[in-house]
Amino acid sequence: MYLICPKCSREFVKRVSRQGKLERFLSVFYVYPFRCQLCGYRFRFLQWGIRYHRIQEDRREYERLNVNFPLAVRGESVYAEGKLADVSLAGCTATLDTALGAGDLCTVSLYLSNDILPIRINAAVVRSVRSNSLGIEFLKFQDNDRERLQLFIRGLLVGRPAAAVSPHGSVSGDGASSRPPIIPNPVEF
Ligand SMILES: [Zn+2]
Repeated sequence: MYLICPKCSREFVKRVSRQGKLERFLSVFYVYPFRCQLCGYRFRFLQWGIRYHRIQEDRREYERLNVNFPLAVRGESVYAEGKLADVSLAGCTATLDTALGAGDLCTVSLYLSNDILPIRINAAVVRSVRSNSLGIEFLKFQDNDRERLQLFIRGLLVGRPAAAVSPHGSVSGDGASSRPPIIPNPVEF
């Protein structure tokens, strides 16, 4: 089975980590949190009989998509150009040489295409640095650039098989599209 976002009706929904005592408690009753990868809507949904084990190595709310585009990062008296390794609505991994360290604020320009203006993030924060790999969280986009990035990510996602929600949280497209999708009523508490 696969879930459809109750807000935007698209099928790119990811099971995400439980937050707080309430969600831990609810998971006893098979109620789990999910987040739409396209519009960002987070909701809870009862999946009767499905038991998720703690297999979520990746605790990020958004799945990061592997890409390979140029990007530029500007910090206080620092400017660096490099490659985008992966991207989501919430952040990216950049491959570049820079003096930026964890906790530093910066602006980011994503050059996703020669045909369109770069997507600009006016406020971002470096979350991790591993040799020349920078984990960056997006805080504030310029103008409607969040929507532009959303469209771009949608384009990447629709090129893949529909994401199925399985007990192991893995993505599988086999046979999922032949079955009707499940449109959840978000569980409100
Ligand atoms: Zn959605």
